[in-house]
Amino acid sequence: MPVTHTLEADVLRRQDPELAEILLGERDRQSTTLQLIAAENFSSPAVLAALGSPLANKYAEGYPGARHHGGCEIVDVAERLAVDRAKALFGAEHANVQSHSGSSAVLAAYAALLRPGDTVLALGLPYGGHLTHGSPANFSGRWFDFVGYGVDAETGLIDYDQVRTLARTHRPKAIVCGSIAYPRHIDYAAFRQVADEVGAYLIADAAHPIGLVAGGAAPSPVPYADVVCATTHKVLRGPRGGMLLCGSELAERVDRAVFPFTQGGAQMHTIAAKAVAFGEAATPAFRLYAHQVVANARALAARLTAEGLVVTTGGTDTHLITADPAPLGVDGRTARGRLAAAGMVLDCCALPHGDARGLRLGTAAVTTQGMGEEEMASIAALLADVLRGGTESQKARDQVRELTGRFQPYTG
Ligand SMILES: *Cc1c(COP(=O)(O)O)cnc(C)c1O
Repeated sequence: MPVTHTLEADVLRRQDPELAEILLGERDRQSTTLQLIAAENFSSPAVLAALGSPLANKYAEGYPGARHHGGCEIVDVAERLAVDRAKALFGAEHANVQSHSGSSAVLAAYAALLRPGDTVLALGLPYGGHLTHGSPANFSGRWFDFVGYGVDAETGLIDYDQVRTLARTHRPKAIVCGSIAYPRHIDYAAFRQVADEVGAYLIADAAHPIGLVAGGAAPSPVPYADVVCATTHKVLRGPRGGMLLCGSELAERVDRAVFPFTQGGAQMHTIAAKAVAFGEAATPAFRLYAHQVVANARALAARLTAEGLVVTTGGTDTHLITADPAPLGVDGRTARGRLAAAGMVLDCCALPHGDARGLRLGTAAVTTQGMGEEEMASIAALLADVLRGGTESQKARDQVRELTGRFQPYTG
């Protein structure tokens, strides 16, 4: 499904050529290199149109029907539409679509359920926990007492027995499940059981897989978690932003935790773009997309394994793959640099075993461009060859340019 988008750079080019060049340069970079960063995607021209709309100029503190500003009657309709579509898409009793980002959504979930100093059990950062899951550099680590669970060093899988043992020992007020790097489905029912056993809230931070959930390609945390936090810009393919889903009984606490507790005015252009994205995500075409994202990730993981990389957990259930390139003679950081020079853009990540860095990649963006399993095989072969030193970066860069030329993310 190619994204068609005419960058309206003319007006910028006339007024501010310096900035226009930057926009066009970035469009060129995105169009001629491979976007394998697991969190990235290409939102549709309709989503981008809503983002660049006059709604960007409207102040709207509060919620539909209860705003602190006048003139909100039209943007209220946009927000109600976004909320209704989110509730229908995820089968949730309540949705808050105002969070400015995934991190803001997590902050609001903590604000709704916790007090400073409370104990929270979450996936440790070395195993793929997010910054907001207790990093000392983040509000979460500063204001709450985080205990980290891990993954099995051999299998890379969440150790549910360890989760239960830690929960019984530390009696957390909340348990967080969700990760920036975990490639497998999370057993939300198992987390719910542990949470119930120790009387903890269950917060699912589904920032990564929520788009797969929307497309029916991953299990939903909604029936199990007290609060689900998510982003709208990853696999879900909407505008940069966050969202919270919960049951009716927590609706008011969650809303008040977003505004006025942690945010001010809602970004109405982004909320409108979220409504557009939820509308797209409810279509059969998006279901196909979500399933193709997973099929592509599985194909890519299998080919990377065949090329000698060690793929964590032996594969993936999602859009996300983590892998150790060491058998090819390079560490993660060197690999990322070499691949960047070849036009293959991806991230480093921690690995379940040892201190070595691995590679993290995802298939959401390349699948939006229309690539399939055949292209995943080409990408894996080229990636491995670059890491082995078999193809020099300029030659690899040309091959990437040829491939992306056939699957343009922006046309026009
Ligand atoms: C991406 C992500 C976030 C944060 O999203 P931002 O929009 O970058 O703030 C939070 N939690 C998890 C698990 C994520 O993957």
